[in-house]
Amino acid sequence: MSLIEFLGLAAIAIGVFLVMEGVAWAAHKYIMHGFGWGWHKSHHEETEGFFEKNDLYAVVFSILSIILFVVGSQGYPLVFAVAVGITLYGIFYFVVHDGLVHQRWPFRSIPHRGYAKRLVQAHRLHHAVEGKDGCVSFGFLYAPPVEKLSAELRQRGTVAEERRARA
Ligand SMILES: [Zn+2]
Ligand SMILES: [Zn+2]
Repeated sequence: MSLIEFLGLAAIAIGVFLVMEGVAWAAHKYIMHGFGWGWHKSHHEETEGFFEKNDLYAVVFSILSIILFVVGSQGYPLVFAVAVGITLYGIFYFVVHDGLVHQRWPFRSIPHRGYAKRLVQAHRLHHAVEGKDGCVSFGFLYAPPVEKLSAELRQRGTVAEERRARA
């Protein structure tokens, strides 16, 4: 493989990584909060134990990228580059979502400044709503400013509604 070819494939992997944010956003908004709520519900409720049904989504994505890696290593470098991009996104997602936000790792590290803090706060706002509908912030790599999300959440009134329903 020439250097140019390698750089081209690296650029494709980075492109796929960025596109995956859109894919994850859409999957979260329309599948997980849609017909796939059965698996995702466990993630919006307090669950006992380390694993939750929602983890099956990570399993599905992992199987998909393993298949792409296998196909790619049979002489399809383009497919391989796509698999690398998806896997990079998976790692990023795990660090931000499972690690920084939900602290599913043995070390405590909560970002107190910068963009990482904004991502964590934005996802916490996603969890402010317990039910399937009326949620904000479905992405992981990009989050709008927290003030904007809070305003949107207030405007929808879902949190207040849920509180009333519980009382
Ligand atoms: Zn959700
Ligand atoms: Zn979450």
